[in-house]
Amino acid sequence: MIAELVSVGTELLLGNIVNTNTQFLAEQCALLGLSMYHQVVVGDNKERLSEVIRTALNRADVVILTGGLGPTEDDLTKEVCAEVMGMPLAEDAHTRERIEAYFKNSIYKEIPDNNWKQAVVPKGAIVLDNDNGTAPGLILEKDKKAAILLPGPPEELYPLFYQQVRPYLEKQQKSVIRSAMVKLCGVGESMVEDKLLDLIDKQENPTIATYAKTGEVHIRVTARAGDEEGAKKLIKPVVKEIKNRFGDFVYSVKEQETLEEAVVKLLAKHDLTVTTAESCTGGLVAGRLINAPGASEVFKEGFITYSNKAKRKYLEVSKSTLKKYGAVSPETAREMATGGVFATDSDVCVAVTGIAGPDGGTEEKPVGLVYIATYMKDKVQVERYQFKGNRGKIREQAVVKALDLLRRSILEHYK
Ligand code: ATP
Repeated sequence: MIAELVSVGTELLLGNIVNTNTQFLAEQCALLGLSMYHQVVVGDNKERLSEVIRTALNRADVVILTGGLGPTEDDLTKEVCAEVMGMPLAEDAHTRERIEAYFKNSIYKEIPDNNWKQAVVPKGAIVLDNDNGTAPGLILEKDKKAAILLPGPPEELYPLFYQQVRPYLEKQQKSVIRSAMVKLCGVGESMVEDKLLDLIDKQENPTIATYAKTGEVHIRVTARAGDEEGAKKLIKPVVKEIKNRFGDFVYSVKEQETLEEAVVKLLAKHDLTVTTAESCTGGLVAGRLINAPGASEVFKEGFITYSNKAKRKYLEVSKSTLKKYGAVSPETAREMATGGVFATDSDVCVAVTGIAGPDGGTEEKPVGLVYIATYMKDKVQVERYQFKGNRGKIREQAVVKALDLLRRSILEHYK
């Protein structure tokens, strides 16, 4: 089945907003096994929109349109699509009731007149109730083709897609596609592919694909089957095998779980409190940890000790260490991690010190050199890294390594 995406809105053409809906829908269509050859952006103009819809319906089986379902004059998607497909418009009593109920529960006292426009739908269309807005989603079917109309705001579009559009598309495809994600940290993509070569070579159903992210590799396992259970059955042994092959490099098998969430969960599981002692990452490690829900249980305080003076003042890094080895050294990283634990009475500390550049590098200590240390119940581990890239990239990579070293120190301790 071929799908095509049409994003409607002059603001998209002008670059006022980023077309994240297309990125989301394209990824979802690929996950469903739909082919996609075209994606179009068109402004709020009747003639051009009409032409785009006609072309899309000619070359695709399913056209997903987003935006332009609002109550104002320039919202034309439904009207134009109905006209192209030869479907007359009529008020839908059920949608009218939903609009009334929506406003009753909102801060607005009166329903603006133009909102009733949203209760008008093409005759015979499948109406998709929108719990997060007034414009319903719509599916218009004609001559074995379908146009799926969805509201532009992502907070309305995503739930509509997951709850109603995806099942509809799966029904058309007569199969479901499900996938699982294995997330790894501390190992490079080429090494991952190398270790999976035999599985990748013989892959058919499920398929295995790897994706590299800063400091991480994600492996997606995707299976097609008659139903959800069947797909899950195909995926399970492959995920198990991948977990066996990569051991502690795997930090999660949950699609939505981030590295910091996995670390916070691990800390909570062992009832540990953590602190951070950061120089070149300037609080980014603490920020990532606090991103994770439940961080308050494990994270009490952190330090940004950018200057030598601050390293001495807050972390009691000794003057002689700083003088003899310098701020960017394994010795300083070690003392920062130890000092962090003693200053806060926490169980674990992760410390980062490095040269993010663009200046400050020397032959002996080039830009990108970062030392990361962890203190975990009396054991200190220090790692040396040489990162590439600009200042932002170096700091970003250091943060991921810091979170990963923290994770691995905990795992090793409880082995
Ligand atoms: P509404 O009923 O809220 O008017 P609509 O279906 O008419 O929704 P638009 O008016 O086209 O949608 O867009 C409303 C908002 O939705 C935009 O201001 C933007 O924030 C978001 N939006 C629209 N299209 C996209 C897109 N392709 N990607 C990301 N966000 C989008």
